[in-house]
Amino acid sequence: MKVNDIVSRVSESITLKLNAKAVKMAEEGKKVYNLTAGQLPFRPSSDFINLLRTELDFLKSYQYCPVSGVADLQSKVIEDFQKSRNAKLPENFGVVVSNGAKNSLFNVLSCLLNPSDEVVLLAPFWVSYPEMLKIVGAVPKVVSTGPFDAFVPCLKSLEQTITDKTKAIIINSPNNPAGIHYTDQWMKDFAELMKKYPHVQIISDEIYYELYYYDPAPTYFYHHAPELFERTIIIDGISKAMASTGLRIGYTIAPKELTSAMTKLQGQTNSGANSLVQRALLQFKYESLESFLTPVKAHLRDNAETLRTAFRDNNLDLSWYQSRSAFYYLLDFSQTPVFQKYKKEENDTTDYSFKICEDLLSDFGVAMVPGEAFGMPNTARMSLVLDRAAFKEATDLLFSYLCS
Ligand code: PLP
Repeated sequence: MKVNDIVSRVSESITLKLNAKAVKMAEEGKKVYNLTAGQLPFRPSSDFINLLRTELDFLKSYQYCPVSGVADLQSKVIEDFQKSRNAKLPENFGVVVSNGAKNSLFNVLSCLLNPSDEVVLLAPFWVSYPEMLKIVGAVPKVVSTGPFDAFVPCLKSLEQTITDKTKAIIINSPNNPAGIHYTDQWMKDFAELMKKYPHVQIISDEIYYELYYYDPAPTYFYHHAPELFERTIIIDGISKAMASTGLRIGYTIAPKELTSAMTKLQGQTNSGANSLVQRALLQFKYESLESFLTPVKAHLRDNAETLRTAFRDNNLDLSWYQSRSAFYYLLDFSQTPVFQKYKKEENDTTDYSFKICEDLLSDFGVAMVPGEAFGMPNTARMSLVLDRAAFKEATDLLFSYLCS
């Protein structure tokens, strides 16, 4: 059967290919260190699990809920957002609860963009942004960064990508895959810049907000210029900080013109998200997340430190940057000795990230995600969630490869 042109243009996940190989190797009895995970390897807090258990007894947990979400949960999302971010949303803001933050984002893009609208992406970006833009027919305009500026985009370059056709910019801080969040000063300057371009909507993907393991906490442009809220769309959800990727609950917090359109779209496509989980979330105390995340953050900090030591011990300090949030680190191969084996000439700009990750997996049993899909050639994303001892072993193997 021939599928349509739209979906034919969407790229398949390159992680799947490497994951299949990692699984096969493990089945063959080989030791594999899987550093591809995009989720915490822990169960959610016992408070939340107990709330889910309680809700199992109620008929409503098994029935349709309102398309845009359980009403009291929508109010709670607004309340928790305002408390956690220490910000006041305008009165005309609404919430749509969707089937995970990915679904939230896709519904936002579907309701906001017309074909050939331009959307600014800051590389490295989450893999799904450009693919979703392809589906809705919008055009990504990418601003590049690099490890030497710790993956923080230069605002001058960002300004140069804005045109009359720019409909939106997507920012993601804390960032997947770089594992950093932009500084307060960057956010302040970004806010100033955005004030100059009133036709640009700002989509702020804050799914990793709580997951910073070095202070200061992430702040946002709207802290410096609350008037920007009127063209801000916030994406959040329970997947990452609540260790609940499989429960599929995401939120959009945005002006009601947009949330009403999203409700219409969602009503004819997904319907309301999972009733059971929404009802359990109603009673969940957002403040309790802090104690749940304390050991998680200590774990991420330890693994980030292991990585830093490995860079130093292998005389690769110059290629190191401090990760501080989400649970990833983006490794730049182009600054390591092994890269000489791949490069064909001095100014070779070919992306070898897939080949390098393939070799690393076959020869050392370490699986990572090639950076190509994040808009960062010759890098790879490694996840910091593996337990400490296994992470240390994986790091030793990784650096023996990088320095070979
Ligand atoms: N946004 C970013 C930056 C992500 O990394 C992810 C998941 O990996 C999502 C959104 C989607 O989260 P969810 O699992 O809730 O769909």
